[in-house]
Amino acid sequence: MPEDLSTLWSDVVTIPDFPAPGVSFKDLSGILANPIALGIVVRAWADAVGPEHPTMVVGIEARGFPLGGALAYGLGCGFVSLRKEGRLPRDVHRREYTLEYGDSVLEIHQDALTVNDRVIVVDDVLATGGTAAAAVDLVRESGAHVISLAVIMDLPFLKGRRALEAKDVRVHALIDSEGTPYPHP
Ligand code: AMP
Repeated sequence: MPEDLSTLWSDVVTIPDFPAPGVSFKDLSGILANPIALGIVVRAWADAVGPEHPTMVVGIEARGFPLGGALAYGLGCGFVSLRKEGRLPRDVHRREYTLEYGDSVLEIHQDALTVNDRVIVVDDVLATGGTAAAAVDLVRESGAHVISLAVIMDLPFLKGRRALEAKDVRVHALIDSEGTPYPHP
């Protein structure tokens, strides 16, 4: 419900020039720490993606882990981790990518998903879309089908949504960078 989503903004802290000059960092850890806000997020995502019949939630390190785990539980799905370089112990698929404030690498276990999996990718913030696009590529390389991306916030001026939709991935964002709930009036 839009009136619930509008309350999320009170748990968002904006940190200027972190982790690099010019970046306005949105710290959403207050949403995770607030059981009411966390419930609003997970229920809103579950309502949005439940009809898409997902089988698996894939969470992006690090904030995609607690958020994705909660969503997976709510949906009755399994959960798979997308990890930063060198953390996974078995054979991996690997993608280098560029995000709002640098370059990084994501990896997934090669046997984590099957061709029968229908996947929701989860993260906290969608900025340029570089991270989420790498996640989508890794899930597809694993043979699974990506249904959509679920994030709490998108930063519209960085056009991440456009990057994901160009890859035929629906984006479920709950609020924008000023706290206005989606869908916008
Ligand atoms: P991007 O790949 O540019 O879409 O960046 C998204 C990823 O980087 C997510 O995992 C976010 O947690 C993080 N991120 C990028 N920019 C920000 C920001 N301004 N505030 C908070 N997190 C961000």
